[in-house]
This record gives sequence, structure tokens and C-alpha cells, in this order.
Amino acid sequence: MSRTYETFVERLHELADLGHAQGLMSWDQETYMPPRGAAMRARAMGTLAGLYHERLTAPELVALVADLKDAELTGDAAVNVREIDRQQSRSLKLPKELVVELSQTESLGHEAWIGAREKSDFALFQPWLEKIVALKKQVAERVGYEGAMYNALLDEYEPYARAEEIAPVFAQLKAQLVPLVEQITATGLYPARGVLDQEYPIEQQELLGQQVLADMGFDMEAGRLDLAVHPFCAGTSRDDVRLTTRYSADWLPGSLFGTIHEGGHGLYEQGLPADASGTPAGASVSLGIHESQSRLWENMVGRSKAFWTHYLPKLRALFPQQLSAVDLDAFYAAVNQVEPSLIRVEADEVTYNLHILLRFELECDLIEGQVAVAELPEAWNERMEQYLGIRPPDDALGVLQDTHWSCGLLGYFPTYTLGNLYAAQFFYQAHQDLPDLEAQIAQGALGPLKDWLNEKIHARGARATASELVEEVTGAKLSADYFIDYLWEKFGSLYGLSR
Ligand code: ZN
Repeated sequence: MSRTYETFVERLHELADLGHAQGLMSWDQETYMPPRGAAMRARAMGTLAGLYHERLTAPELVALVADLKDAELTGDAAVNVREIDRQQSRSLKLPKELVVELSQTESLGHEAWIGAREKSDFALFQPWLEKIVALKKQVAERVGYEGAMYNALLDEYEPYARAEEIAPVFAQLKAQLVPLVEQITATGLYPARGVLDQEYPIEQQELLGQQVLADMGFDMEAGRLDLAVHPFCAGTSRDDVRLTTRYSADWLPGSLFGTIHEGGHGLYEQGLPADASGTPAGASVSLGIHESQSRLWENMVGRSKAFWTHYLPKLRALFPQQLSAVDLDAFYAAVNQVEPSLIRVEADEVTYNLHILLRFELECDLIEGQVAVAELPEAWNERMEQYLGIRPPDDALGVLQDTHWSCGLLGYFPTYTLGNLYAAQFFYQAHQDLPDLEAQIAQGALGPLKDWLNEKIHARGARATASELVEEVTGAKLSADYFIDYLWEKFGSLYGLSR
């Protein structure tokens, strides 16, 4: 390997080390930091973010990238140069004043959003969101884009994705989901009532979560599980992956499926290629691919009948009083109850993506100027009624429920639905490659699936883009068909519906 490339990799490792410190500091902020630590922590994180930007755009690294772009690189070297070039040119195109103004507006906008949500008064947040949208458009103009302006924002979370490509897939999904939700609602069945809303002592919930994580193959020598108000998975490297969860004594699914979800993210991080650690080639592909790993474990495995064939007896041993009279069919139906609801983070597998599609459509319209910020609450409520048949009674339960836009995260929401679609496509392929998969899951043998995901997805790092990876692993382009088929097979039989 050339001396130039070696120097380039040394610089990448320094960037990764700065990222390591940032990751650990933000994990600590959400878990163990005492409240009064917040002000100094914010300053320290700001300093590190500034250092990272300085290093990424340093003239030496810019020159190294320019030299290496002329060399005929292959393999990981080509991936690393391509990715650093992409990140670097994005950063170089943004003037410092714009970055500072955006970051200040986001933190003040976030404060305004908290107040607006408490009072359920969108007008308090409206001027801030107007400013954020205007600044995001400036960002898009500066970094440049092909096709829709929205693509410049989407690229930050789902690199190389384009609104023109995902919008038709999402439209196809919506056309199937809306009538499916209507049919399920019309059955009037609510199987979770009475089964899940009982007291489930937290100590036993902890035991259960730890057991399932161990069965999934999450390595506690290279990871941890802690408590957080808003659960997430963070990490400093593949050998140090931090999961978080939260417990509620009167709602079992929250912690259990939350822990499995974060465990899916954690397995991805632990499975990244060791030989490319600290470089883009050894990192995860995109937020959408990351979310595919968590949703696959949470829903396609964790809410499957095969899974509960093995785990219901274990659950009954932990909670004998609560579950003595509940059989497998009743429990399986309970953890898969479908019910249109106002809040995205509480939504079930069938209705969840309609919450996301609504947000994706509205943020595209905001950026393209089709909808004004002032019109958002009404546009939101109208779509909720069209897609889910329910209308939020106030803005707190409607347009103000998510923190994302107040933090400047425009272009982020579609990664959730992409994750669900990728997950279904991967899971379909896993069944083709592992014909005994259902039987293995029903015996609590989750290792073969983990090994398959390790080999096909995790160990690839970011050597392929998301769309390349999907095609490599499944032999087909991204499609909503796999997810729709999966939903019909599962919920058609649960609710006695035929297609
Ligand atoms: Zn997730």
C-alpha cells in the first residue's frame, strides 16, 4: 500500500478516535451524567464537533484525498476515499456561519418545541420551524443535488438514496396499507386487552431481556445494557456497543421488544468487519440498513409465533399468575394487535409506516415549497384521517409529537420505513437460504439467523451502498412487495382476512 494511503488511513483513525470520544460522551449524557453536568458537557461536545470538522476538512486531508482520487484504487481503499471525499466536500461547501446559525437555531428551536408541545400550541414553534426549513434549504443549495432538493438532506442519513426512487415504492406501500388497516379495524378485534396490560414486575422483565439478548448472540464482553429515558444503541467500536432500554411495570411489550430492537442494532455493530475498523469501509451502511437489523429482530423474529413457541413457557415461568390462563395463540395475537393510534412510537407493525409516509410526504412538500409551515397542523390532521381514520384532537398528539424537525432532522424519517422494507426483503432471503429457520427459532436457536446476518450484511461494512447491498443479498432491487406479502401472511391469518 502506498505511503500516501497509509497516511490517509492514519488520519481516518484519528477521526474515528474523535468520534469514539463523542459517542461515549453522548451515551453518558443519556445514561449516567448528573443533571448539572449538562452545561459543561454541551460545551465539551461542541469543542469536539469543531475539532472533528477541522480535521475532516484540514488542507492535508483534502490534498491526500485529491492525490488518492487520481490513483487507481480498488477494494476498501476505493470505498474509504469515496466516502471521505463525499463527507469532506459536503463539509467544505458549508460556510461556518451557516453551520453555526443552523446549530443555534436547532437548539433554540428544540427548546421552543418542548414548550409548544407542553402547551399543545403549534404557533409557538412555527417561527422556529420556518427558520429551520429556510436554513435547510440553504444547506441543500450549498451542498448541491440532482433531482429533488430533498435529496441533499436525505443523503445525510441514507447516502445515495433519492426521493424519486423511494417515493414510488412508498406510494405502492401506502396503496396496500390503507385498505389493510381498514379491514383489520373493521373486525373489531383487540386481543392485547387484558393479556398485556397487567402488572409485570421489573426484576423479572430484566431477566427476560438479558436472556433473549444472550440467545440472540449479543456479546456482553463487547457490550452493555443500561437504562435510558429514550432507548438507543450507541457505541465506540465493534468491541464496545452500548444498548439501552426502559421498563414499565404495567406494560410488558415496551421493554421486551425495545430490548430486542436495540439488540438488533447492537448485533450489527458487533458484526462489523474488524479488519476495516476505524475507517468508513468498516462502518454501517446507512440508517435504513441499521433500522432493518433492529426491526427484523423486533418484529419478524420477536413477534413471530415460532419465537413465542419457545419463549412463552419461559415467560410463564417468570410471570405464572399473569399468564397461567394464556395460550400460545392468544399471546401471539396479543403482541400483534393492530390499532390505529395517534402516536408513531406506539404504533404496531401494520400502521407504523403510515405514520412515516405522512411525515415523508410533508417534509418533501415543505422543502419543495408545496406546503407552508403554517399549514402543517391541518395538513397533518387531514392525512391522519385519510390514512388511519383518526384525527388528532390537538397538536401535541399531532404535528408536535416528534422531536426530529425541531432538531433539524429533515430527511431522516424515511429511513424508518426503508428499514422495515429492507428487513422484510432480507428476512425473505434468509428463509430461502435457511430452510429450517422457523423450526430453529421455535427451538430458541437464534444462532443460525445471527450467523447469516453477520455474513451477508454485518461483515460487509459499508463496502456496498444500501441499494447495492439489498441487490447483492436478495438478488432484487428494493421493493415493497416483500413487506406487503409478509404483513398479509401474518395479519391475514391473525384477523381472518383474505387478500
Ligand atoms: Zn432503531
